Amino acid sequence: MPPEKHALLSASSASRWLKCTAAPRFEEHLPERTSEYAEEGRLAHSICELKTLKKFTVMTSRTYTTRLNKLKKDPLYSEEMDKTSDLYIEHLTEQAMLYDSTPTVVAEVQVDFGEYVPEGFGTCDNVMIGGDTLSITDYKHGKGVPVSAVGNPQMRLYALGALKRYAPVFGDAIKQVRMSIDQPRLDSYTTDTITVEELMAWGESIKPIAQKAFSGLGEFAPGDHCRFCRGKAQCRARANTNTALEDFKDCVPAASVSPDAMTTSIIHLAVGLVLLVAVNIVLGSLNALFDGSFDKVKLRNGTIKGIIVAACFIAFYMAGWLNPDIIAIDVDGQTVNLMTASNLALLTAYVLYAKDVFVKLKNLILSKTSGTPPEELAAEQETAE
Ligand code: SF4
Repeated sequence: MPPEKHALLSASSASRWLKCTAAPRFEEHLPERTSEYAEEGRLAHSICELKTLKKFTVMTSRTYTTRLNKLKKDPLYSEEMDKTSDLYIEHLTEQAMLYDSTPTVVAEVQVDFGEYVPEGFGTCDNVMIGGDTLSITDYKHGKGVPVSAVGNPQMRLYALGALKRYAPVFGDAIKQVRMSIDQPRLDSYTTDTITVEELMAWGESIKPIAQKAFSGLGEFAPGDHCRFCRGKAQCRARANTNTALEDFKDCVPAASVSPDAMTTSIIHLAVGLVLLVAVNIVLGSLNALFDGSFDKVKLRNGTIKGIIVAACFIAFYMAGWLNPDIIAIDVDGQTVNLMTASNLALLTAYVLYAKDVFVKLKNLILSKTSGTPPEELAAEQETAE
């Protein structure tokens, strides 16, 4: 099974942080999103691991069947997983046949590439070693987009970690590295082969970039890699690159602000809205007092209504901030999501309450104070009638 713990500079997010060095620290405190797809992926990986062990190591049929049946009891299990894991094993078998003699095969290998990337570690789905070649294979269960192994930084980092791990056993015997990505659900199988020398030179070349991304001194650089960034809904750098929604850019929370600063700004917004509602109630009551129509019940109901409205807007805003992508649509490449809707709703509330405050203030200034208590005013009116 893949590890639950993730490195700040993970191999799987390398294609992002190698381009946008600000991303890791920007995303760091944002909530991790777990989805049913991710859980399905974990289960599929477990089935792949079990089948790898059955195929390439000594495992009794009884142990295998017991473990497979246990995995099949998972509510997320599907027949398709059985088929895709079989295809994965078929591909591994083909890889093994490329060696002159039977290679050493290991599944779910923990690799440490911290020599190149601060605190970098990860899990390789499969490692094969024989002759002068080290092969690593990554199984991807998703069926979103095909990912190529050619020049893939995730695979290169895993390869660097695997080389380090097996260096004490195989020494300098390994001269080349073969990296494959299997996506059976997309019928996509790609492989890249480079020499150990080239791989290490690449590792050296990314060291300063990794250092920058780790230090928190990175720079925002939007692009295609933003797609899976947890901070994309809050990122101004990304919002600014979008011209289609340029008019709305100020509705998006400050970009390069840290999550802490964002929390402060949410508190400011919430306090501001509550103040506007309170001023509204006070001005309304004063106007009623001056024109003799003051009503305690009306004041109480107005206060309750104001509290409910403010609480609803704050709750709505928090929901958008915590789960920005629950509802998301793409408009010309720009994600419009619950966070965008929350910002617009909050802005609308501000405008409406502020307008009301101005109207009530104007009425207060223009009103004439009669000095006559409301009860007397009512009595005078009755007499006149
Ligand atoms: S959304 Fe894009 S630009 Fe912004 S932090 Fe993430 S990767 Fe970088």
